[in-house]
Amino acid sequence: MGNPRNKKRKRARIPPSKKAKKFKDGGQNVVEGDQNPGPSGMKIGDVSGVFRDNISHTGRVQEGTVFMDLFILFGVFNEILKCPECGDSMTSHVDMRKKNGFSHYIVLQCCNTECEWKYCFHTSKKQGPSYEVNVRAVLAFREIGRGHNSMVTFTKVMNMPPPPTCQNFTKTQIKKLLPVVKQLANDSMVNNAMNVKEACGNDRGECGISIDGTWQRRGHVSHNGVVTAISLTTKKCLDVEVLSDKCKACQKWKKKQNDPKYEEWKANHICKINHVGSANGMEAAGAVRIFNRSSSTRGLVYTEMLGDGDSSTHNSVVESKPYGDDCVPRKLECIGHVQKRVGSRLRS
Ligand SMILES: [Zn+2]
Ligand SMILES: [Zn+2]
Repeated sequence: MGNPRNKKRKRARIPPSKKAKKFKDGGQNVVEGDQNPGPSGMKIGDVSGVFRDNISHTGRVQEGTVFMDLFILFGVFNEILKCPECGDSMTSHVDMRKKNGFSHYIVLQCCNTECEWKYCFHTSKKQGPSYEVNVRAVLAFREIGRGHNSMVTFTKVMNMPPPPTCQNFTKTQIKKLLPVVKQLANDSMVNNAMNVKEACGNDRGECGISIDGTWQRRGHVSHNGVVTAISLTTKKCLDVEVLSDKCKACQKWKKKQNDPKYEEWKANHICKINHVGSANGMEAAGAVRIFNRSSSTRGLVYTEMLGDGDSSTHNSVVESKPYGDDCVPRKLECIGHVQKRVGSRLRS
């Protein structure tokens, strides 16, 4: 309080009504000219739009998940509910032995010891073999880039029982979410490519992309990297290539080559390794693959490439001749990166 910087910040805040109006349809409309909301605005759009459909006009919600204090819930149960068999009052508790991650098992019992009336239920709906709340929780933590440890911290701070085990967290992530997320991402990228083709207005689908690579770990020692291609026209993602130079299954079986099951494993194994060489080379390798499959998988020809100043990526793409000798992808320089380089040189 009283800090002039804080006051300044408060004044600069955009009123919520204005902000929502700007990205009314999830950032799908590209704002032109000076009204450009910048990369983060484009990426996130109006987040509240996702939930809008679930809330009825009356303001009443009858599905979804809420945080509920058990003291209040059981208080209401004990106060209002009466045993349908003997009319005595009710007692309720959570049976921790039957809990399944965030889905808890609530037991309602008659206070009368001679009456055997009992009602039990889980606090979450089942979706196939798993409970909805657990799948959503894992997805939520992965969405914000967090893992099981963060989930444990979250439950501790919230005074909640422990979350799903680490094993179940991984299982949900790999078996349940990964195939769906992969399919969804692919559908979305194909759809984006169709929009770009319409927007660029030529039959060959000639357009420009921005290419950038990122690594799981810093310092050029990462075993995993991702290369992303984003359209310069619609600012939406068109293609990604995940590169890895390490396979856990291969490492595990390398020591057990005399095992009778080794041959069987080897025949069925789909290896995760799709990159050989240094982590630095991942961006160039990924970009080459993205360019070479653009015509067949996206129906687009990337004639312009915006990089972050790493010339080796552009050189590799040109050398690979993705569209034959006639069409050589042109290199664009990102003014932001030029600014950054000039700025840091001037300062040092
Ligand atoms: Zn009873
Ligand atoms: Zn492998």
